[in-house]
Order: sequence, then structure tokens, then C-alpha cells
Amino acid sequence: MRGWGWGVLLLMTAFMPGQLAGEPDPTQGYRALLWKHLEALCAMGPRYPGSAGHAQTRAYIRDIAERYADSWKEQAFVARVGYAGELPLYNYELTFKGTGRTGHTGGSDDSPPILLGAHYDTRPFADEETDPEKQEQPIVGANDGGSGTAILLGMAQYLHENPPERPVKLVFFDGEDYGRRGSDEYFLGSSYYAEQLKQEDPSTWPARVLVVDMVGKKDVKIFKEVYSFRNAPGFLDTIYKVAEDLGNTQFVPMLRYSVRDDHLPFIYLKIPSVLLIDFDYPYWHTLEDTLDKCSPDSLLGVFEVVVETLKRV
Ligand SMILES: [Zn+2]
Repeated sequence: MRGWGWGVLLLMTAFMPGQLAGEPDPTQGYRALLWKHLEALCAMGPRYPGSAGHAQTRAYIRDIAERYADSWKEQAFVARVGYAGELPLYNYELTFKGTGRTGHTGGSDDSPPILLGAHYDTRPFADEETDPEKQEQPIVGANDGGSGTAILLGMAQYLHENPPERPVKLVFFDGEDYGRRGSDEYFLGSSYYAEQLKQEDPSTWPARVLVVDMVGKKDVKIFKEVYSFRNAPGFLDTIYKVAEDLGNTQFVPMLRYSVRDDHLPFIYLKIPSVLLIDFDYPYWHTLEDTLDKCSPDSLLGVFEVVVETLKRV
């Protein structure tokens, strides 16, 4: 019986060279991985700069970098924040060097990279709470801070297992959510990263920047963000075409919300930059932004669109 089964299997294999029926979806299996990362992040508690959870997150990112990236670096710097003084912050850049495009000879591609970014810090105060006592407590940030980080962590393993043709940089930004409301002390990590780029030859700058933030809630719906639409309409179209081709209904090709986020420092450098975000989230900057509001299907859907987008740009 067992031998017969193997015979059938071999016969079927022989009749399906190169998987004529369509290649298996290489992102299958990443659903559980993405969720595992998000669970791990939330278990660390609030992850704002200086907190124990922040230190644990940094160690977690470094471990993934060590395992999967072709090379990586920590970008340490000190920001000055009005209410907190000098604040040590850390970005992490994981590089996947690229195998070379079709027709491109040599082992790696020297074309400019695509940057996929997310902030890993969480907000130190729940200032959207109505109760003043709660407003000073730090949030867990399952969706805001957690979801984008989980996608990048999963992407590191994916790119290791499925090396991209074109170079990809995964950048974990710090200090996105540290600023008091009304201040301009947001996006500290991405602003610093963009400042450092200015020291380098523009030919080495990322060709595109894609930022993911707040993409993990149940039944996520990602509308076109306005700054992204104004500054990178072609890139945005590519992403929504990918979603359409994949039959992904989480992406809604209509404009909604201008959101100031980690894509802005790159827009200032005139790099086509897009933010993927679902800003219709009632738990935003509250103590209720917890794991139970999120879904592995949301993470996987966004992950699949990003994977395919990296192949098309
Ligand atoms: Zn936030």
C-alpha cells in the first residue's frame, strides 16, 4: 500500500514538470510566522525608547538580522526631545544584496535598493484615552509599532529563503511615536536615517521607500494615503495593481487621510515614498491597542502584496 502510494506520487511528479498547474504560493507558511513575531513583540510589553521592552525588541531584531540578513548595521544616535532631554535611539538596517536582475551578470545587483521600513518603538503615553490617569501610561502598540515590525521580521526570513533580484533594505526605525501631540518631535529615527543619506552619493539612495504602519487590525482596509498619492502616484498604482492581481480586497483604491509618518523624511529627499496604513483604528494611541484587535490574515495579506511589489519595482 505504501509502495503503491509512492508510485502514484512519482508518476504525478513526472507529469507535472515545473509545476505546470501554477507555482505554489511561496508565502504560504508565513502566516504563522508573522503572528508569532507579533505575539512575541506584544509579550515584551510597551516598547518605547528607554523601556525594558525596547531593549528586548532591539535584541530580537538583532537576532533576526544575524540569522537572515546578508549584512546589517545598527545606527545609534542621540535625539534631543523637549520633554525628555537627550534620548539614545537606534535604527536597524538589514541588507539583502540581490541576486542580479535578468540579463544582469555578476553575483549581486548594483542597482539602488528598495527600502522597506517600519517603526518598532511604541508610544510612551496613551494620550487618546479620555481618562487623564490612563493618558500617561505607555501603550502595548500591537497594531501601532507591532504590526509593521512583525512584517519586516517575517520579511527578513522570506528574503533569506527567496533572495530578491534587486537589493532590498529592511529598516527598523526608532522614535517614530515619541513626540508630544502638537510637537514636531516625531519620526526621529527615519529623519536621522534620511539626514545620513544626504552624506552619501544620491546614486546609492533607495529608489523607492515603502513604509508599513498600523496594518494588522482585523479586517484591515488600506486606502491610498494622500502624501503617498501626491508624491509617488506611479509607485502607489503598482502596489494597488499587485493587490488587484492577487485578489486582495484589503487594499481599497480610494484616497483617505493624510498621515504624517516615516515616509515624509524621504519625500523631502524626492524619493518616491509610500505609506501603507489603515488609520480607521479606534484604539489608536490608547491602552486598547492590543493583540486581540489584530489578525494574522491581515498581516499575511499585506505581506503578500509587499513581497510581490518588491519583485515588480
Ligand atoms: Zn502611533
